[in-house]
Amino acid sequence: MLYIDLIIIFIFGTIIGSFLNVFVLRYNTGVSFVTGRSRCFSCSKDLHWYELIPLFSFLMLRGKCLKCKSKISYQYPLVEGLTGIIFVAVFLVIGLAPILPLYLIVASLLIAMSVYDFQHKIIPDGMVYTFIVISFIIMCLIHPLGQLFGLPLSLDLLAGPILFAFFAFFWLVSGGKWMGFGDAKLALGVGFLLGFLGGTFAIMLAFWIGAIFSLVIMFLQKIKISNLKLSLKSEIPFAPFIILGLFIQLFTSWNFQSIINFLR
Ligand SMILES: [Zn+2]
Repeated sequence: MLYIDLIIIFIFGTIIGSFLNVFVLRYNTGVSFVTGRSRCFSCSKDLHWYELIPLFSFLMLRGKCLKCKSKISYQYPLVEGLTGIIFVAVFLVIGLAPILPLYLIVASLLIAMSVYDFQHKIIPDGMVYTFIVISFIIMCLIHPLGQLFGLPLSLDLLAGPILFAFFAFFWLVSGGKWMGFGDAKLALGVGFLLGFLGGTFAIMLAFWIGAIFSLVIMFLQKIKISNLKLSLKSEIPFAPFIILGLFIQLFTSWNFQSIINFLR
């Protein structure tokens, strides 16, 4: 009985994940993601309801179209499962609070942005601006209003603009080579959502994970296992690392004390 709420939120997450797959696929293509039936990419067969059950259908069909047997991308079950897990984690952190839906919308946007960035190497403005606005609303709701506008000005209130300025600076001096301006916009929302310390930790995590990832890729290239052609320049999208850092920070509430405890 204890876990029934987690199972419900997981299933809800996989359904949203299934929607996010369609959303990212049809984003900026002019095709509506509300109407229009899902089809097989190879044979254009309309998919039945039992072929559209998140995770379950992929497993039942063993990743192949029922009619033409062509392979279905692993992206679909991956995004569905990931969204389910992230929804459970958000629920565990936030609890059944009135603010939970806003956090779930933010999580969905972040997942959609990651998938889109991997595919197109760009973060769509529409998604990132929505993320910034909702993060700002969350900040206003979780901070007591008096503290928010009282003097001295809360550092958390300025976290967004500070992190934005940090990335915008690197974007400016490198002529867009080290950082994209999209990363700066993303950092603005990260600051609003996590506050000053949380936001800074999330960005730090992003740099560390990004650096480790780059080193692993370079090592694999050296021993000729990976055929991923990557250089240390802007070819690796950085936004997914920022988003990963954000999620880790949100779920673990990392702080200086936890590092000290860890090192002891
Ligand atoms: Zn087919």
